[in-house]
Amino acid sequence: MCAIVGVFGAEDASKIAYYALFAMQHRGQESTGISSANGKKIHLIKKRGLVTNVFDENTFNVLEGSCAIGHNRYSTAGKDSLLDAQPVFAKYKLGEISVVHNGNLVNKYEVRNELIDKGAIFQTGMDTENIIHLIAKSQKNKLKARIKDMLSKIKGAYCLAIQSRSKMFVVRDRFGIRPLSLGRLPNGGWMVSSETCAFDLVGATFIRDVKPGEMLIFEEGKEPVSEQIFEPDFHPCAFEYIYFARPDSIIDGKTVYNMRLKMGKQLAKETPADIDLVLPVPDSGVAAAKGYAEGLGVPFEMGIVRNHYVGRTFIEPTQEIRDLKVKLKLSPIKDMIKGKRVAIVDDSLVRGTTSKQIVRMLKDAGAKEVHMRIASPEIKYPCRYGIDTATTQELISSIKTPEEIAKQMDAESLGFLSIEGLKASLGNDRVYSLVSFDGNYFAGGNAKSPTCSDCD
Ligand code: 5GP
Ligand code: MG
Repeated sequence: MCAIVGVFGAEDASKIAYYALFAMQHRGQESTGISSANGKKIHLIKKRGLVTNVFDENTFNVLEGSCAIGHNRYSTAGKDSLLDAQPVFAKYKLGEISVVHNGNLVNKYEVRNELIDKGAIFQTGMDTENIIHLIAKSQKNKLKARIKDMLSKIKGAYCLAIQSRSKMFVVRDRFGIRPLSLGRLPNGGWMVSSETCAFDLVGATFIRDVKPGEMLIFEEGKEPVSEQIFEPDFHPCAFEYIYFARPDSIIDGKTVYNMRLKMGKQLAKETPADIDLVLPVPDSGVAAAKGYAEGLGVPFEMGIVRNHYVGRTFIEPTQEIRDLKVKLKLSPIKDMIKGKRVAIVDDSLVRGTTSKQIVRMLKDAGAKEVHMRIASPEIKYPCRYGIDTATTQELISSIKTPEEIAKQMDAESLGFLSIEGLKASLGNDRVYSLVSFDGNYFAGGNAKSPTCSDCD
């Protein structure tokens, strides 16, 4: 997933970027970084860890200037080196440049191999490095023209903020797969952000979503200039509404919480259960569980408590105490659950490992029956537009039926939202990207591109 932010024309730009990244910590906890420009130079600080651990007053003294771009990185296990942190910075013919990217380029290997053949060297496995190489290699003499050159060569999902010493360029791919919004800062100045929850924190006013295929150019003393680079072919990612985004964010005009509530209500229509109580898997399943409970007219309870302080740094439990891992994070309220028939609602089922442990936890707490409900369809395909769902083999729904999974989990039943039900919940005003569920890469995608095993 990842988060990006860009701030232009504001005193304390890097501090605003910092607060924005803090609001979007849920989109990536692996590493974080901010680069700032003061007209003469670009400064960069990036590090592994959470936003609050990486930045302090000293870092803001370094990160001076009225333009700042920032990034939170989400990565798959084992690929969390500092080198892979963003922004990616370089010096090249026209000066200094810094780039942040949210998304996934599906022709990453083709582009990379071509560049390597011509002698380019790479430091990381990130597709973002392709972007900076393509800009540096372009023969055009203006940065904007070089960016356009680069855009003509990359394919897939991207939201980009690109910073020179005095300008900022922002681009959203023509499918609008990942979200990106434009806001106005209270003291003048502009801001772009993956999610609107960042605007709310810094007091920015939402102006509009960046259009699919649009480039915005920010220059000192001027209003932002918009250029439609590509014809839009809008297919926003449904998973933003299902799981990625924060419930209070408004993505392309729709509040995420409301979408989740609708998915839960639809789930109740499609796969009801004879139960006493509906519980969410916190936090990701809360809104959908509420909708499910409302749909069935059954009480909703926060019957599982989540410890919010479990980070990635926690020492991995050994096999002998394999229950510990989920218990560290989640714990049931026993006398609420004892003797009850419960439905437990989560936003999605990926590998089935967490869910299995949760069912066992509820049974250990004395639940008479456990009915697992998933407020999204069966995930059958890895999505190369940037979702961490690894290989087909790891996706439990691609190899097992719901009945088989329920049995393996020791749940009384398992129900998913249908693809049609998901579409109905999100609204039929646009065609969403549903790759994880239907494997359909629509126009311009490339399902046959090699797997992105070393990028995200
Ligand atoms: P499972 O029970 O299949 O092991 O995991 C499902 C859980 O993973 C759900 O609670 C869901 O919120 C979460 N999830 C869904 N997509 C992603 C993702 O891309 N990354 C991570 N870390 N978690 C995800
Ligand atoms: Mg979850």
